[in-house]
Amino acid sequence: MISMGYVVLKRGREISIYRRHPWVYSGAILKVVGSIEPGEIIRVLSNKGEFLGVGWYSPASQIRVRMLNFGDEESLGEDFLYKKIQRAISLREALIDVIDSSAYRLINSEGDTIPGVIVDRYSNFLVCQFLSAGAERFKDLIISCLREILKPEGIFERSDSNVRLKEGLKPYKGHLWGREAPDRVEIREKDVKFFVDVKRGHKSGFYLDQRENRYIFRDYVANKRILNCFSYTGGFCIHGFKKGAKEIKNIDASKDVLDAIEENLKLNGINKLSCENIKGNAFNILKEMYEKKEVFDVVVVDPPKFVHNMGQMKSGIRGYKKINSMAFRLVAEGGYVFTFSCSGLVDAELFKKIILESAIDAGRDVAVLKELSQGVDHPYSISFPEGRYLKGFLLRIL
Ligand code: SAH
Repeated sequence: MISMGYVVLKRGREISIYRRHPWVYSGAILKVVGSIEPGEIIRVLSNKGEFLGVGWYSPASQIRVRMLNFGDEESLGEDFLYKKIQRAISLREALIDVIDSSAYRLINSEGDTIPGVIVDRYSNFLVCQFLSAGAERFKDLIISCLREILKPEGIFERSDSNVRLKEGLKPYKGHLWGREAPDRVEIREKDVKFFVDVKRGHKSGFYLDQRENRYIFRDYVANKRILNCFSYTGGFCIHGFKKGAKEIKNIDASKDVLDAIEENLKLNGINKLSCENIKGNAFNILKEMYEKKEVFDVVVVDPPKFVHNMGQMKSGIRGYKKINSMAFRLVAEGGYVFTFSCSGLVDAELFKKIILESAIDAGRDVAVLKELSQGVDHPYSISFPEGRYLKGFLLRIL
């Protein structure tokens, strides 16, 4: 399982490995010994020859090694990957009451010490992403572990992400094993059902990471007028109506996802004339709503990732500031805002500062009721804070 090849780090570069950070950058490596194929598991040694751990080798990537294990050579039996997968799955099983859904993340990459491997469950179907050279190389093994442990009906691959290019891999998606997933897989979250398009939907089909925030949202909706910006297929909307929202306006740039909201309303037997789906750019629509003096009791702001790289930081910050200040202007006194950023590069402190700027801009007093994050099925390693990409606030607008 473990290659004969190994890498030796430059002097001092073992520190981040001592701190259990899972990424070894190419610049930290002094030499590569032996011929190592992409995705092989290799040993990582310090400059003094000390064994630091093993990781997946990615010759094409700046992140040259992704650590699988720190220091502990004994535990590296032939089945160590199987055990990791089993552990990730049993951690979800232990949290099934918190999750309270038939759709959740089973394996979350670095958060489960399996870098580049993401596996989501949608009822009886699994959707996998193999995003590192190591994940790609060990794909068959991973699939056979998943089959053995979970006995799914079918497995679909959604490795159609451009991050694969950095690993020297082409984006790919397609049916992998078992029964091919239908165009719409039905899932449940608490007492609400959704159709999920695992083949064409965003991410692996649904924003599973927002589940717990949708659950919190349910407690704030009864009899309320709600504006759901960047609605996607209606995650917040359907939960909102289920818990007695009076009126919901959804805004999204894509007609397909607004059509999917209609389907999801039907699926839940919700017949609401008070649901309006508005197709367009949320920035423009919020401006128009302000001009028309529209007011809401609760506003959700869940935009797509604005900052993909450092070059987009400035414009991304501007975007978050603008959309939030526009949202604050539309909220009735005493109303609530659920606001989010899924840009990994915008950390929680920065996001808080942006929200402050938005509040100043809108001229509103804004109180933080709760800090929000990704759900328990999307854990991040304490030594890898980059893994906490989703942050949000539940705010009260005074
Ligand atoms: N809140 C959703 C997820 C939102 S994903 C949930 O819980 O399921 C972001 C959504 O924003 C996508 O559906 C995308 O189509 C939409 N979008 C992207 N840019 C937009 C824009 N400028 N205006 C309106 N919608 C936009």
